[in-house]
Amino acid sequence: MANRTDARSSNHFFELAEDLGRRYRTFRLIPKETSWFMKAIYYGLGMFLWCPTFMTDYTTTIVTWIYMPKNLIGTSAGYEVLRHEAVHVSDCIRTGVLPFVLSYILLLPSVLTLRAYWELRGYRETMRVECERTGDISDETMTWIAKRFTGSDYLWMLPFPKIVRRLLERNRSRILAEGGPHDGHHDPPPSPIP
Ligand SMILES: [Zn+2]
Repeated sequence: MANRTDARSSNHFFELAEDLGRRYRTFRLIPKETSWFMKAIYYGLGMFLWCPTFMTDYTTTIVTWIYMPKNLIGTSAGYEVLRHEAVHVSDCIRTGVLPFVLSYILLLPSVLTLRAYWELRGYRETMRVECERTGDISDETMTWIAKRFTGSDYLWMLPFPKIVRRLLERNRSRILAEGGPHDGHHDPPPSPIP
């Protein structure tokens, strides 16, 4: 997931990380900059050419290992990202590692791939965190998320702005109707594929 900057610290962050550690025996939270594996991906895939901020601006989750840029760990923005990534961890374990990873990565080109489906579940959690914090989900957030679906970040996983907007609006209404603050890191059942 792409970062948004917000350096406030968050106790929720470490509570959630501990909770994930209890739920998944193999869970690990790794500062991305320290990972040779992430560096290998970055250089191996030539990401310095097409995603030069991969190491510093993106959190990458592989099964139960979350590689997060150092400056996010323990922050309020990091908490939002961790909630999003926790949905991927849970979906991956529930679906089975191989089917999840294959459906996420290999179904290219990316139009109508399952990647958009998994990411919609993740970004719904991102929206939920904002709703818990502020009681609302801003247009700015909606636009920011829409760009993640239609742009290069996730290889144009759903490059249809109107469809994306409609999907996100539907989810915003649903989350706002569910209402305000709560502490759960919950994990609603999948909704139909767009
Ligand atoms: Zn994601």
